[in-house]
Amino acid sequence: MSERWASLLASHRAVREPQRVAAPEHKPVAAILACSDARVPPSLLFDQPAGSIFVVRVAGNTATPAAIASLDYAVEELAVPLLIVLGHTGCGAVTAARSGKCHGYLSPITQQICELDNQTHAATLDQLIELNVLSAVTTLTNSLSPTGEGIRSGAVEVHGAVYDLSTDLVRPVQSAVTAAPS
Ligand SMILES: [Zn+2]
Repeated sequence: MSERWASLLASHRAVREPQRVAAPEHKPVAAILACSDARVPPSLLFDQPAGSIFVVRVAGNTATPAAIASLDYAVEELAVPLLIVLGHTGCGAVTAARSGKCHGYLSPITQQICELDNQTHAATLDQLIELNVLSAVTTLTNSLSPTGEGIRSGAVEVHGAVYDLSTDLVRPVQSAVTAAPS
């Protein structure tokens, strides 16, 4: 066992073993599609305990088929009434797309963002980050699975938001930002 892994396990046990709390019921109040960035931990950002937030994380908070299926499970099996797509400033996946890494090993994540960038001509990285959040909200809303059906019927609400690393605050992203003229 490496020192790194041993250190993580030791931290885990030091906190968990003295407490020995029972597993909470699985009745999350929200499901969040967030980026994998280590600085953007959804449950911690919203100060929620285990059991409260159903989290799907993929670099670039991209609504991939697997991400949508995970949210479908939350909506259909756990009756989650609130979905949030959470982007963040300084996103590495959006930065990679912006710098043209649209093919190769990152493409399952960046290709959609590259297409979005080409379509919208986002003026800045921050603008593309917002557009990418809104794009995922649209993809979820239009999906032909329980997630989209729930949103379109009004049973499930969906919101986009961006976590700003410089202010340590999450701000809602409500409407499309104006794209720069091409
Ligand atoms: Zn990111």
